[in-house]
Amino acid sequence: MGRVDKGAKCSVSGCGSEAVRSISAEKVKFAGLRVGNERRAYLCKEHYKEYKKRTKKDKQLERMRYKS
Ligand SMILES: [Zn+2]
Repeated sequence: MGRVDKGAKCSVSGCGSEAVRSISAEKVKFAGLRVGNERRAYLCKEHYKEYKKRTKKDKQLERMRYKS
């Protein structure tokens, strides 16, 4: 997880806002966001929030699965 060069754009298809985070594209795809085939995906503030929300939900689901 890293900082982003100034001027980098969000990798989510149809977005194009200024990126604030770069994350492994694998993880971003796993969270259900549509990004290109680069190894690193750039996310804007909004999509980073969405990414975090989705990964959090996945973790909660996992926890529930372990319990039952
Ligand atoms: Zn975006």
